[in-house]
Amino acid sequence: MTFNIDKVRSDFPILQTKINGKPLVYLDNGATTQKPQSVIDAITDYYTHSNANIHRGTHHLSNVATEAHENARKTVQAYINAAHDHEVIFTRSTTESVNLVAFSFGQAFVKPGDEVIVTAMEHHSNFVPWQMMCERQGAKFRVVPFDEKGDLRLDILANMLNEKTRILAFNHVSNSLGTINPAKQIIQMAHEAGVAVLVDAAQSVQHIEHDVQALDADFYAFSGHKIYGPTGIGVLYGKEKWLDALPPYQGGGEMIDIVTETHTTYNKLPFKFEAGTPNVVGPIGLAVAIEYLNQFDFDEIREHEDDVLEYGRERLNEIPGLTIYGNSEHRTSILAFNITGIHHYDLGTLLDTQGIAVRTGHHCTQPVMAALGVDGTVRASLGIYNTKAEIDAMIEAIYKVRKMLGR
Ligand code: PLP
Repeated sequence: MTFNIDKVRSDFPILQTKINGKPLVYLDNGATTQKPQSVIDAITDYYTHSNANIHRGTHHLSNVATEAHENARKTVQAYINAAHDHEVIFTRSTTESVNLVAFSFGQAFVKPGDEVIVTAMEHHSNFVPWQMMCERQGAKFRVVPFDEKGDLRLDILANMLNEKTRILAFNHVSNSLGTINPAKQIIQMAHEAGVAVLVDAAQSVQHIEHDVQALDADFYAFSGHKIYGPTGIGVLYGKEKWLDALPPYQGGGEMIDIVTETHTTYNKLPFKFEAGTPNVVGPIGLAVAIEYLNQFDFDEIREHEDDVLEYGRERLNEIPGLTIYGNSEHRTSILAFNITGIHHYDLGTLLDTQGIAVRTGHHCTQPVMAALGVDGTVRASLGIYNTKAEIDAMIEAIYKVRKMLGR
């Protein structure tokens, strides 16, 4: 189907909402995206017609629910082009996916004196779990800096990778700068040094290329709620050879094979990593969200979002005293800025009175804020349904705030 923005907007019922009497301008997609009607309907439909616990039931509903849940895994597999459906582990979120790898990989492969590398532009959820793992294992935690434009210093990374490095974790797209990191190149550098790689795709999987085999990612993590699916469902992709080699993250039902008083053996993939009753409906909703995106040519989505992004940068640059953060040539979806003399929190709150939803603060990236020398920014983050008219509404609202505050 060709990309028709009016049709797309009509697919997301919440966009009709009025906030403070003004039409909602939703520009907080980096935090979470809105859901198309098809996703909302799938969730209602599941609870209305198919609800049951999965994998171990003998009855009809359990079989229906199991089939829907496992078909959803195949939809995710196809979307990210994983070689096998059992390489797709359902988790709660990107955060849980990263914690799983940090814990299990750390336990299996990281010993005192080893090194782990992340970047200075990570979300805390791809930073703190590695720091914690390094503390547990006695390993050295190393951080790749970025330059003034917001590009990673690959020259420094090249010097950091060495025979002690066990794993490198980085985001494909930064949630506070919008930089698209050259994931393929970085992964190749790491692999040449014999280092495993985890890609945090929380801000990329919905906007740019997302082919795990083309990237050659060892691990790849994202959240359903940022790709137009429900909250409480995340994905961890791992190459089979790695997932086979890692010990389980949590113990409980479903992840076992045989349990005795003296010993437990574990289930095959993916169940080894899915202890307990899972979020059954989450993957079903996520699969419908992916099907929603799949109806379009992905390049058209990208083109549309880039068009709105570049227009947003152009319009923001007109505002006196405004600084944009994140000026990489390779960028997507994020407009981060401050205006001299106006606190980001005040600006965000006053924009809300005009129906404009943006995020303010450190965006769970305190190391980025430290590098930029600010305590926070205003962040407008784009999704499939945003328009240039909404950018205009935000700019007009910013001018009103400036006037109100005498700036
Ligand atoms: N990584 C990045 C780049 C993010 O932007 C976010 C959320 O904003 C996360 C990880 C964490 O996602 P979640 O809170 O869904 O686990």
